[in-house]
Amino acid sequence: MSLLKELDERDVANTGEELHRFATDLYPICRSITGDGIRRTLALIGSRVPLQTVEVSTGTPVFDWTVPKEWNIRDAYIADSGGKRLVDFQQCNLHVMNYSAPVHATMPLSDLRPHLFTIPKHPDWIPYRTSYYKEDWGFCLSHNQMLALDNGDYEVCIDSTLQDGYLTYGECCLAGRSSDEVLISCHSCHPSLANDNLSGLTVATLLAQLLSERDLRYSYRFLFIPGTIGAITWLARNREAVGRIRHGLVLTCIGDTGGFHYKKSRRGDAEIDRAAAHILIHCSKSPQILEFSPYGYDERQYCSPGFNLPVGCLMRSVWGSFPEYHTSADNLEFIRPVQLAESLRMCAAILDVLEDNRRYCNLSPYCEPELGRRNLYRSTGGNEIGMETHARLWVLNLSDGEHSLLDIAERSGVPFSAISEAAKLLCQNGLLSIVPDDSTGGTTPSQAWHEGTLQRS
Ligand SMILES: [Zn+2]
Repeated sequence: MSLLKELDERDVANTGEELHRFATDLYPICRSITGDGIRRTLALIGSRVPLQTVEVSTGTPVFDWTVPKEWNIRDAYIADSGGKRLVDFQQCNLHVMNYSAPVHATMPLSDLRPHLFTIPKHPDWIPYRTSYYKEDWGFCLSHNQMLALDNGDYEVCIDSTLQDGYLTYGECCLAGRSSDEVLISCHSCHPSLANDNLSGLTVATLLAQLLSERDLRYSYRFLFIPGTIGAITWLARNREAVGRIRHGLVLTCIGDTGGFHYKKSRRGDAEIDRAAAHILIHCSKSPQILEFSPYGYDERQYCSPGFNLPVGCLMRSVWGSFPEYHTSADNLEFIRPVQLAESLRMCAAILDVLEDNRRYCNLSPYCEPELGRRNLYRSTGGNEIGMETHARLWVLNLSDGEHSLLDIAERSGVPFSAISEAAKLLCQNGLLSIVPDDSTGGTTPSQAWHEGTLQRS
């Protein structure tokens, strides 16, 4: 059974609620590119899927970068002269600029002001700011909160540590029949941000759970990593192993109500690019297929010229294009159970294409075989044949050992799932045989026909 069918046999509403509940559990954790927040996040993911946690020491060179100091935070606030907390990390972890160095001082507003960040256009929202690679400190607050500050003195406290430690990431590996791999990657370094971070994490976790119970053609590697530096670190440590990656997908921003976007890999014509485009076009409303660009999420690292891996990026609303992006409004109300479940379905359908995209050989290539005799054609004559029959005719016609099922789906305009079903049925009826995965070299089946070796009488 296809992964999508298996998913659809579950209660979809329930699946959506399960994804949203998991996001709700992860939401309060103050994550960053290093530290205990990401460890706690990985522990929760690890309670659902087999997860290996890797710790890489501060100072480790990773290509042109260096693994940074580890950041942890216990508390932070701005208090008035009476000790009343006006901005409080305990209320919302976005209030502290992520990676802020420790500070404890009393200062007038004029000294504090350069360290405050707001969004005047959305005066009730708190922005998300980071300063990973330049040691600094700051507070993020709503514009209205800032307008309420008078010119008095303020107690400013950030109880954080920035010390030698580790960068932590999680890896979930599922063995398939082949050592060739599908890479699914999502960043896990944003604090309380739902669409940009948690939607990808939750969908990837459930996807790994579903796949872990199946007999798989490919091996799967799920990476739960800090953005940019995490992908760079993983690639630096796995330089040789990346040769096994046949297809890859970065998952992010897939919980909001926006339509689907797929950003192609740098290659542009990789099987993942074609599979994702085919599924989005057939299964979603007004999808957008975007060309590769060297800006975005970790596909930037996987698609850097030294690697040029076939890794695309699946999103709903594109990062930076929705006003809630990198603000406190990207919260648990911004992501919806229905949309999370639909995104999981889309991922399942794309993986179904990768798993089932094989080449076949028509064992009866001289004229059409008599499908009616085998109950594979409509029983009574008429003007129309249904999609199922269409799919069988296309599969028979193009299964010369050279065209894959995805080639056939693209050329016929018939959904891949119908083409794949047709291939299975034709195999069961002895009309088609699968071309082994490793038969790309040597004599092709169509050459074999001409040489008579596959001829049937
Ligand atoms: Zn982000």
